[in-house]
Amino acid sequence: MVLVNENYLKLKAGYLFPEISKRVSLHTQKKSSENIIKLGIGDVTEPLPKACVKAMNNALKEMETHAGFKGYGPEQGYIWLREKIANNEFLSKGCKINPDEIFISDGSKCDSSNILDILGQDNSIAVTDPVYPVYVDSNVMTGRTGNPLEEGGYEGLTYLPINEDNGFKPQIPQQKVDIIYLCFPNNPTGATVSRKELKRWVDYAIQNNSLIFFDAAYEAFIQDEDIPHSIYEIEGAKSCAIEFRSFSKNAGFTGVRCAYTVIPKTLSGKNLNGEKIQLWSLWNRRQSTKFNGVSYVVQKGAEAIYTKEGKEEVKHLIDFYMNNASIMREELQSSGFTVFGGTNAPYVWMKVPETMSSWDFFDYLLDKANIVGTPGSGFGKAGEGYFRLSAFNSLDNVVDAMNRITNI
Ligand SMILES: *Cc1c(COP(=O)(O)O)cnc(C)c1O
Repeated sequence: MVLVNENYLKLKAGYLFPEISKRVSLHTQKKSSENIIKLGIGDVTEPLPKACVKAMNNALKEMETHAGFKGYGPEQGYIWLREKIANNEFLSKGCKINPDEIFISDGSKCDSSNILDILGQDNSIAVTDPVYPVYVDSNVMTGRTGNPLEEGGYEGLTYLPINEDNGFKPQIPQQKVDIIYLCFPNNPTGATVSRKELKRWVDYAIQNNSLIFFDAAYEAFIQDEDIPHSIYEIEGAKSCAIEFRSFSKNAGFTGVRCAYTVIPKTLSGKNLNGEKIQLWSLWNRRQSTKFNGVSYVVQKGAEAIYTKEGKEEVKHLIDFYMNNASIMREELQSSGFTVFGGTNAPYVWMKVPETMSSWDFFDYLLDKANIVGTPGSGFGKAGEGYFRLSAFNSLDNVVDAMNRITNI
């Protein structure tokens, strides 16, 4: 028989979302007629921008003709999309990112996992706790951790707790770590970092020859001026950071699939002889070998985000979700809950009542109000005592959900 990848056996059973489904279906069996509001999963709910749909329709029409047909595109993405991204997302904010440093992909979830392909096995790795589980599990799968620990987490990873005491901002590690995953605005806590705070991370990375993975999937939700949208707004970041961006949350592309990763050409690692190796060429090689690009139709849809009409529609989507978040914050606060996040991110991170665990509160909300959220402990042990509610829903559902919570 074939041998399996033993690393997969270290993974703790996909516990969080299956456990949520199990509890929700048990609940509906008992009280089937009641109407459940799901504020749990981080998926958008509003339809696609019309500008994107129009562009995708047109692209499909082109493909119907001999003249307009397209086969394989460039593995790195079409240059017209990479140029639009460079101009609109980076150059306009003073970040000197070239179009060829932008790699188009079908998602940040895969990019932030696949990136490990081009890096050595023996790098030390730091993640926040709580954390987006993809970062941890992809390290487990590739054999970069030890076994799961009794108290939660995995052997061999450095966990940087984020909690109320540090304002949900990770402390810079005392020791040297090679790779640090940062996600701001943060999923699950909704926390952000200022330019000054992010500068400290960039300085740390430069001093220690570390590499930062900066996940900016939620940058479009930023409302405050002093919060950076890109790590490249910070001087020096082009020599120590890779940035992941996605059209999933700003333009509702979760089902369409389009994202991009920025790898500056100035970024390098070293081989075992200590010689400098450019990360860009390794990623370019990796993508050319293992990936055949995002479909032409989808890239045309993404390009339309940068038209006048597209920009307006995206802004409208963001305003819509942020209005939901603000209603959630206000209502929860006025019912006496302590809440975080929800001002520059579509997630509200609330404290559960002291007598309850995150899962107790999950059951309580489901039972008393027919509301599904996500227990903070599912994102890591430092998430215990917290609960995530997502602003991705209709206004009616958000208002209804908040009324139910207030009237428990
Ligand atoms: C939603 C999300 C993404 C985007 O993933 P895609 O694969 O591009 O849909 C990336 N990072 C985090 C933390 C997210 O929550």
